[in-house]
Amino acid sequence: MDVLRTVSNFIFGMECLGCGTSSERLDPWLCPSCAAELAREANSPAFPNEDAFCLFPMRPLTRRLVHALKYKNIPGLASYLVRHSSAVRNGMVAQELSMLAQPLYFVPVPLHRARYRERGYNQADLLASALAVAMGGKVCRMLRRKTFVVSQTKLSKEERQVNVAGAFEIVRSQKFPVKGSVIVVDDVFTTGATTSACIAAFGNDFPLPLKVCTLLFDEPASAAADYAADCRADWDGLRIKK
Ligand SMILES: [Zn+2]
Repeated sequence: MDVLRTVSNFIFGMECLGCGTSSERLDPWLCPSCAAELAREANSPAFPNEDAFCLFPMRPLTRRLVHALKYKNIPGLASYLVRHSSAVRNGMVAQELSMLAQPLYFVPVPLHRARYRERGYNQADLLASALAVAMGGKVCRMLRRKTFVVSQTKLSKEERQVNVAGAFEIVRSQKFPVKGSVIVVDDVFTTGATTSACIAAFGNDFPLPLKVCTLLFDEPASAAADYAADCRADWDGLRIKK
């Protein structure tokens, strides 16, 4: 074990991904104190709605780890985080999923093609694989992103939301499973707009049950703050008109 740790520290560097301090006791990415913090945070899975399940809350440590998964080219963090989820370890996820029709198909939210080229992997795909290994099931890449005619950056916030709503489509060439359940997998659940758009892509007549599983749940506080600011602007506008 020590040899493995030494080799991994040599390959991945000796700095803890949580706090950045150098440690010779990384496991292989977290120092003992960050590993203990992750274990505590793993005890707070979230259920943003009856069909969605998130393994960890968004906290400074989990935010840094997901950031590292996406931007620091550390794909192994996906299975590391899934394996460290209490809900996965204590069988809570397995129990939830065992109530669904089997087999389980884990469907990753597809990445933009340009993003994929830049990153070399899709973090949702890695999470789907880790969940399929932990829970027993298959990864099924049933969705793809539609190509946008207009660049997202040129759209207003409202137009972007509408654009996300129709952003995904089913890969028609693929043979669909006729029994089992589909679990759409993503890294972060905030407002649920992305995963809802994925679910919508399956259409109303899709015969299998559809669920959502993400690594993190981010309280949509910033979205709520935006909404409050919009309302305030409307209110101020009304007052000015008076
Ligand atoms: Zn640390």
